[in-house]
Amino acid sequence: MALLKAYRNLLRLFLRPVCPGCGGARADGEKLCSWCMLRLEPCRSIHLSSTGASIRQGNDAPADNPCNGVYVHSALMYRGLPGEMVVRLKFGGESHLASVAAWLIKEYSTVLPSSDELLVPVPTGPSKRRKRGYSQASLIAARLAPLLECSVLELLERDDGPSQVGLPLLERRSNVRRVFRLKRGAAAKLAGRHGKIWLVDDVATTCSTIHNASLALSEVYADSVSGLTLTYRGRSGGSIV
Ligand SMILES: [Zn+2]
Repeated sequence: MALLKAYRNLLRLFLRPVCPGCGGARADGEKLCSWCMLRLEPCRSIHLSSTGASIRQGNDAPADNPCNGVYVHSALMYRGLPGEMVVRLKFGGESHLASVAAWLIKEYSTVLPSSDELLVPVPTGPSKRRKRGYSQASLIAARLAPLLECSVLELLERDDGPSQVGLPLLERRSNVRRVFRLKRGAAAKLAGRHGKIWLVDDVATTCSTIHNASLALSEVYADSVSGLTLTYRGRSGGSIV
């Protein structure tokens, strides 16, 4: 009997769900362990894509307009676990983290797309996609769409463009200015469509990536566009891409 109990305890230990954040044990029904949940800091501001300026939530803000900038909503601050997850998703081949990222966006973003709105992933350049085998924003959007019961469409493509590593704000902005364009057939898919489009990405730093993606969309789409990212890294955080 004691042997059976020991066997069951051992089995329970090995079958215990693993926390994708730290590799430790997590409780049944929880996405992350309690320690990893403590390493999450909600993002309290929204940011304007044209300047990267912070706008405190709850303040009145001008209507979205791609030329003046669209609003970028981020679920969590980059530091701590979210940043580690972004790096592992981008550079460590851990594509399974996209479903955790989608869950975190749903749990922590103060504004979420409604079911009649559209998610559009911010694409990765072809060379990075080939190297990684996937585009992280596409994976996150694909996992987020069923959680919010909304649709996702791949409407944009991106040139490789020069590296952003270590570049100051102005150079980062000019670097991504013309790297996005509409995919063939994107205009037809948007014809007759109304309602907000949400550009989904893993991280916002200067917000220039979402800004330029929104400008590409605005060539064929007149309605509102917003950005939605897992993390906000901020200008002082340097570059990871
Ligand atoms: Zn954990």
